[in-house]
Amino acid sequence: MARVPEVAVVGAGIVGLCTAYALAERGTTARVYESGVPGHGQSSGQSRIFRHAHDDARLVEFTRQGRAIWDEWADRLGTELVSQDGVVALGGPVPGRLRILQEAGGIAVRAVDGAEIRTRMPLLADYSGLAMLDEDGGAIRTRAAVESLAEALGDAVVTDEVISLQPTGRGTVEVLSAAGREEYATAVVCAGLSTARLARNVGLSLPVRPAAHVRLTFQVRGAPPERVACLQDSSGDFGEVGVYAAPYPGNSRYAGGLSETVEVREDGSFADPNALVALNDRARAYVSRALPGLDPEPVEYLHCWVTSLPWSEDGMAVWEADRIFFTAGHNLFKQAPWLGRALAGAAMAEGLEESLRPAATLGRPR
Ligand SMILES: Cc1cc2nc3c(=O)[nH]c(=O)nc-3n(C[C@H](O)[C@H](O)[C@H](O)COP(=O)(O)OP(=O)(O)OC[C@H]3O[C@@H](n4cnc5c(N)ncnc54)[C@H](O)[C@@H]3O)c2cc1C
Repeated sequence: MARVPEVAVVGAGIVGLCTAYALAERGTTARVYESGVPGHGQSSGQSRIFRHAHDDARLVEFTRQGRAIWDEWADRLGTELVSQDGVVALGGPVPGRLRILQEAGGIAVRAVDGAEIRTRMPLLADYSGLAMLDEDGGAIRTRAAVESLAEALGDAVVTDEVISLQPTGRGTVEVLSAAGREEYATAVVCAGLSTARLARNVGLSLPVRPAAHVRLTFQVRGAPPERVACLQDSSGDFGEVGVYAAPYPGNSRYAGGLSETVEVREDGSFADPNALVALNDRARAYVSRALPGLDPEPVEYLHCWVTSLPWSEDGMAVWEADRIFFTAGHNLFKQAPWLGRALAGAAMAEGLEESLRPAATLGRPR
C-alpha cells in the first residue's frame, strides 16, 4: 500500500502549490487537495503585479526576500516567472512608499519624471505628477507559475474536495474528503474563499472579508511594445484613485481593474447587484481616459471572488490550531513563494514566523 504523505495541503491555488513545492524542496512529502482545477480560484488570469511597495516595512522586506525565491524557482523550473519590466506607481502615496523602500535598502526603486514614464509605460497618456519606478518589480507570469509548479508536484496534486479536517488528539490531523479519510502529521489550509469555513470547524473565527472583483483585458493598439511596466495609479488624474494593471506575456494585451471591490453578504449575495456592473463601466472609462495605447473595448472579462483581512488590502496572516495552519489575506500572489517556505517551515515543526501570526497584523500601515 502507498505511504500516506506527511502533510495535507488544502487548495492548489498559488499559495498551496508554493507550500507543497517548498515542502518538496526540503524532502517532505505532501498531498495537495484541489476541488477544481489548480490555479482557477483567486489565482486565475494571465498576470499579476510583483511590486515591492507596501505601507508596512515588514512586508517590503518579505517581498524583497520573495523576489529572490521567484528567480531561484524560475531558474530551476526553466521558465520566466516575473518579467523584467518594472512597476510604475503614480500619485500621492509615492513619496511615503519611496521612503519605506529606500530605508529597506537593496531594492532598485526611484522617482521618475514624465519623459521616463513614457519610455517605461508607453501605453499611458501624458502624466507629469508624482511617480516612481520599481525596477525589480514586474508582471508575474501566473500561468507559467501555476503550470510549472503543478507539473513539478505531479501526482501529489489530487482532484478531491476536503469537507472537513480535525485534530485527532494524537498529535495528527484527520482529513475527510469527498473520496477519502486520511491521517497526516499536519495540514496547511490555503483554500481561498473556503479557508474561513474550514477553520470554523476547529473553533477558529477568521475575520476574512469576501468580496467580488472585476478585471478587464484590453488589446494593445498596433505592435506590442518591447518593454511595458505594470501600473499602479493612485493619482486621480484620470478620474480614479485606485487602479492596477499588468501586461500579458508578449505585451499584446494589458489587463487591469479598480482596486475597489464589491462587498458581499455572508451567504455570498450582493447588497447591491448593480455594483459589479458599475465597477466594470468605471474600469472601461478609466482605460479610455488614461491608456490611449489600448483599444478600450475589453477582449476578456474576469469576475471573481477575493478575500481580504480587515487591517489592510495587503494584509496576510496564518492561524494555527493543533497542527493545522490556516492562511488568509489578499494580494498574496507575489508573496506566495516566501509564504510557501514559511508555511513549509511551520508544517515541519520549525515554528511559525511571528509576524505571520494574526496579532502581528502584517500589512497594516505603520
Ligand atoms: C483579478 C485579481 C487581481 C489580483 N492582482 C494581484 C496582484 O497584482 N498581485 C498580487 O500579489 N496579488 C494579486 N491578487 C491576489 C492574488 O491573486 C491572490 O491573493 C492569490 O492568488 C490567492 O491565492 P490562494 O492560493 O491563497 O487562493 P486561491 O487561488 O483562491 O486558491 C484556493 C484553491 O483552493 C481550492 N479549494 C477551496 N476549497 C477547497 C476544498 N474544500 N478542498 C479542496 N480544494 C479547495 C480552490 O478550488 C482554489 O483552487 C489579485 C487577485 C485577483 C482576483
